[in-house]
Amino acid sequence: MSPRPIDGSTQLVGLIGWPVEHSVSPAMQNAAFEALGLNWRYVPLPVPPGHIEVAVRGLAALGFRGANVTVPHKQAALRVLETPASPLTEEVFVAPDAQALGAVNTIVLARSEDDTIIFSGHNTDEAGFLGALRDGGFEPEGTSAVVVGAGGAARAVVFALMAAGAETITILNRTVKRARALVSDLNSAARMAPPRAIQALPLTRETLTETVGGAQLLVNATPVGMWPQVDASVWPDGVAMPAQVTVFDLVYNPLETKLQQQARASGANALDGLGMLVRQGALALELWTGEEAPVPVMRRACEQALRTQARS
Ligand code: NAP
Repeated sequence: MSPRPIDGSTQLVGLIGWPVEHSVSPAMQNAAFEALGLNWRYVPLPVPPGHIEVAVRGLAALGFRGANVTVPHKQAALRVLETPASPLTEEVFVAPDAQALGAVNTIVLARSEDDTIIFSGHNTDEAGFLGALRDGGFEPEGTSAVVVGAGGAARAVVFALMAAGAETITILNRTVKRARALVSDLNSAARMAPPRAIQALPLTRETLTETVGGAQLLVNATPVGMWPQVDASVWPDGVAMPAQVTVFDLVYNPLETKLQQQARASGANALDGLGMLVRQGALALELWTGEEAPVPVMRRACEQALRTQARS
């Protein structure tokens, strides 16, 4: 079936990032719109660093219904939304999830009856991670988790694990200072339950194997293992992964990473990063359209797009 034609009533959303040409989000979102029979389109919007403010305001000028925001603009997008250009013509709302993470990955635009533009900023990464983890059969409450990485994705992961009641969280990072800063932010996040055991350690072979030995969950929130470095893994070669651990690799290109292969070879459960990408995208679609997202359609579209990219 050919996609419905673009016409004067087509509604637009897009992906603000730099670069964006390899993103599978356009394939995922457009497949969902098609399945829902919506006359909407999702387009890549390559925005160079330093141009986020004009890009966000431009969404309103061009009549966009919303956008996703990705690297390197997520933190800057929050700052833009926190400072309305004109309180007379704009209203802004930043959701608690985006406030807590200090980053926006989804912008929704609406117009009130008096033509005021209402921008709202959200972050669907945290809920997307949790949704994908639970889709994979893992309930974090009361568990012990090890998160490798302390960047934007790790931040969403540890906030999600805290909110879901993980008992202990160890953050391992190449630059330990960054992991310590994340622990300090977690401890001061007012919305969280009383502090549980959270620690930051440098990422070494010893800290990783020792902490994972007593954990139920290992999350890779670094780009290690991502195409084209497909032979890399945060887990050391020649060391068996404890079989009780569920491994969640946020990297989704390739779909099966070396880390996942190591986990499966040791009898451990392994989840891929596409689950999180699809869940955060599904939540964004629901914020824009109010429709229930067709998650299996979105997942299939991502897999297809990744296969096509791998062939080219
Ligand atoms: P980021 O903010 O740039 O952080 C990158 C993190 O990875 C930092 O902690 C960095 O450590 C660490 N790192 C980078 N290269 C490393 C290496 N060679 N060895 C050890 N650690 C290394 O990036 P991000 O936004 O958090 O994204 C991280 C990964 O998650 C990316 O692969 C991204 O594609 C993926 N991701 C997936 C989803 C999804 O939906 N599946 C969503 C978001 C992100 P230092 O602090 O020492 O530099």
